[in-house]
Amino acid sequence: MSFDRQLRLGMVGGGEGAYIGNIHRFASRLDGVWQLVAGAFDVDPARGRAFALSQGITEDRSYGTYQELIAGEKDRADRVDAVAICTPNFTHYPIAKALIEAGFDVICEKPLTATLEDGVALEALARESGRFVGVTYTYSGYPMVHDARVRVARGDIGAVRSLQVEYPLEWMATAIEQQGNAQAAWRTDPKKNGRGGSIGDIGTHAYHLAGFVTGLKLQALSADLATFVQGRALDDNAHVMMRYEGGARGLLWCSQVAIGNSNGVRLRVFGETGSFQWFQEQPNELVYTPLNGRVQLIKRGADDLSEDAKVRTRTPPGHPEGYLEAFANLYAGFGEAIRARHAGRDPGPLGQNLPLAYDGLKGVAFVEAVVDSAEGDLPAWVRPVAR
Ligand code: NAD
Repeated sequence: MSFDRQLRLGMVGGGEGAYIGNIHRFASRLDGVWQLVAGAFDVDPARGRAFALSQGITEDRSYGTYQELIAGEKDRADRVDAVAICTPNFTHYPIAKALIEAGFDVICEKPLTATLEDGVALEALARESGRFVGVTYTYSGYPMVHDARVRVARGDIGAVRSLQVEYPLEWMATAIEQQGNAQAAWRTDPKKNGRGGSIGDIGTHAYHLAGFVTGLKLQALSADLATFVQGRALDDNAHVMMRYEGGARGLLWCSQVAIGNSNGVRLRVFGETGSFQWFQEQPNELVYTPLNGRVQLIKRGADDLSEDAKVRTRTPPGHPEGYLEAFANLYAGFGEAIRARHAGRDPGPLGQNLPLAYDGLKGVAFVEAVVDSAEGDLPAWVRPVAR
């Protein structure tokens, strides 16, 4: 079977009123690599079928459940090439497992699973089955994040000494989960979200971004979790101190109650001879400061950027690119990786350095470690005494 055609995408979740499903639809469409042809979009089968029809999906591929999708697609000559999972965390594992066992490639939302046990099992299944499992760590889709990764790896700032990474949000600063907000409701339910609240939801993005850019491997961490909104079952603010192999140190802050911030993802990396800073609200710029030098703005689209950044760039410098393009870069990369596997060749640069099942598992293990650390009250809390 040739894969030099448009790839066929199925989707589970992401129905009417859902958040991230729409972003997947925009992103998968942008480069013409994927075409959405089937879906089981909603936990309510009738609503899911109606939504599928509204998206132009044919009636025979508008499914009520993911089990129906698998049964309906499995033996079709034009079956879907991969299925995107855009459902709440606790459903990722059973849905991904069923899809992989039926022979489908998978594009899964983060966190990979709600529990470490499920994460370990899913990563093993992906590895042993040989199925492709991509994980949508959005921030690793940005061209300037790739450029930072290349520059750190080639030694532009010397060995990394420390990093600061943060993901502050404000949307859960009040108990919106008790006022009918569907997204907040499952995110604050440990059974549906997993043990880590803000740390699982957005801390995993920050953790992945820091590791992606620096290549550092986490050795140990010490965490302080807080729940500021009364009645909330999970953390809504996290501070994590991190020790990396080789001695580098990191600090991660994420918050769902940081008033004034909306998706203000920021990474600062300090090396022996310079530093980099990237801020997702100015995603087309990378700030570089060499030791004893001037602050420099490296802009997306410039001639001297890495190949990795260039292949992820669509418009000339000055025309802004952002979140949807970053997400589309992941989809284009997943498509390239899948096509390369079928053709028995190495993927081109777009299909490399992608977030895969093992990266997803590392994120889940990170959340577990953070909650274990916070519950154990591991840091030595010492009261400063002035006299
Ligand atoms: P949401 O509550 O807005 O949407 C969930 C959708 O899944 C709904 O349409 C619901 O009906 C459907 N659904 C639930 N169970 C289902 C099932 N068994 N079968 C079919 N459909 C089912 O949630 P959301 O905010 O879009 O988050 C979904 C996932 O995406 C979560 O894992 C979240 O962590 C992740 N997410 C990732 C990013 C990112 O930047 N990559 C951003 C937001 C959310």
